[in-house]
Amino acid sequence: MNSFRERVTQLFQDTFDEQPKFIVRAPGRVNLLGEHVDYNDGFVLPAAIDRAVWIAFTAAPSPHSTLVAVDLDERVSFSSETIPAKTDLDGKPLPHWAKYPVGCAWALNDAGYETPALNAVFTSDVPRGSGLSSSAAVEMAFISAWQALAGFEADAMARAQLGQRAENLYVGVNCGIMDQFASACGKRDHALFLDCRSLEWHTVPLPDGVAIVVADTAVPRSLSDSAYNERRSACEEAARLFGAKSLRDVSVAEFQRNKNKLPELVARRAQHVVEEIQRTEQAVFLLKQGNVRAFGRLMNECHESLRDLYEVSCPELDVMVRIARSLDGCYGARLTGAGFGGCTVNLVAHSEAEAFATGLASRYTRETDKNPSVYICRAEAGAGMV
Ligand code: ADP
Ligand code: MG
Repeated sequence: MNSFRERVTQLFQDTFDEQPKFIVRAPGRVNLLGEHVDYNDGFVLPAAIDRAVWIAFTAAPSPHSTLVAVDLDERVSFSSETIPAKTDLDGKPLPHWAKYPVGCAWALNDAGYETPALNAVFTSDVPRGSGLSSSAAVEMAFISAWQALAGFEADAMARAQLGQRAENLYVGVNCGIMDQFASACGKRDHALFLDCRSLEWHTVPLPDGVAIVVADTAVPRSLSDSAYNERRSACEEAARLFGAKSLRDVSVAEFQRNKNKLPELVARRAQHVVEEIQRTEQAVFLLKQGNVRAFGRLMNECHESLRDLYEVSCPELDVMVRIARSLDGCYGARLTGAGFGGCTVNLVAHSEAEAFATGLASRYTRETDKNPSVYICRAEAGAGMV
């Protein structure tokens, strides 16, 4: 962590010829359990990880903010008084990455918060586009930066909602609240339990001696809009047939009693959701008991359910999970995120994590000819000043 702090400080100095006044950090996240249930008002169990966006910044003397994206070797300047239209900055297209921070300024202004001009340099070790939420980390970092300068009151959940609004309405990505929530509310060595309906949440301690290992299949996530929409409407249809507001309100017992009344495909989709919601509740109970093995079994069940009932896995994800489970120290392995590519998440005995990561990568390459990235992670604190 310290090295990142030094690095971003140096980068700021190289760019602006002075010391930065402030440094903020905002982490990426991984979801341990509760997949494809956020849009069913269910429960999710993510954790913020020890990979993060770091910004070094200072209040700018001019009305213009200058943001330097070191990892992309690009910069933009803009004034909060004239937030650029999404696709246009002084007549030039706004680069994609800049929509995230500029969108946060837009969301903050729209909610009545000030966004004083700042000179900022940022860099990150959250891999981009892998499913570890590099975008939410950028958002939470910039919202924290503007909060530090303007001094407005907004708690972590409120900041998460502002980031989600920026991503939904300014960037134009229809994401839920989980990513920003986890980046904003993370706690070291804890998972985060979130009720997606009420937005009530609490932290759950992760047992000692376990590592969270994320493995990127190197298959680009490709949950086409149509596949995603098909799942969503199946869930809505099932809820309607149950006379419920959402599948959150249907218990597993009720589902079992009445599943024959649903069309076969709708029943399979709904079964995943009602059982996954129950699994996530059980998981919290098991974690509190320190029962890693039983928790890992729930992760395994989740994968089987996503593969067979929800049908959002792919051959490479299944291979990655199968290899993981055959390696020493693995408590549980499953696909994480929307599916059809992207990452798996594994719970692994800490003492075995290095060997696990190496073994997983090499065997996966042997079987698929693809080069995976494997990240050994620790649950970390959420976004804030350093
Ligand atoms: P992810 O699953 O990582 O959140 P997204 O597609 O949602 O994937 O967001 C990735 C986008 O976020 C990048 O294309 C880029 O625009 C922005 N982003 C993430 N990290 C950085 C960074 N270090 N510098 C600049 N932009 C970034
Ligand atoms: Mg994202």
